[in-house]
Amino acid sequence: MTKVVVDAGHGGTDGGATANGILEKEYTLKIAKYINNRLKELGIDSSLTRDSDITLEPTNRVNKALSLYGSGSDVILLSNHINAGGATFA
Ligand SMILES: [Zn+2]
Repeated sequence: MTKVVVDAGHGGTDGGATANGILEKEYTLKIAKYINNRLKELGIDSSLTRDSDITLEPTNRVNKALSLYGSGSDVILLSNHINAGGATFA
């Protein structure tokens, strides 16, 4: 059965994008918790890389994600961000 790792982007000392008093890390955590709870309600195995405002350096974030369900083809990593714009898509 598919398992989902839900990653709340940023956190701790890394606030992510900011505008108008909004911090990206706060919303990514709220979104990640909502998704994680909803997946569990649907009977899908789901876990968070963080469930509080902690700093996860890139290597630690990857290791945390891998520690939850491994790296099999039945694992989905869903990392959420709220970008501030300026991105271009090819
Ligand atoms: Zn971001």
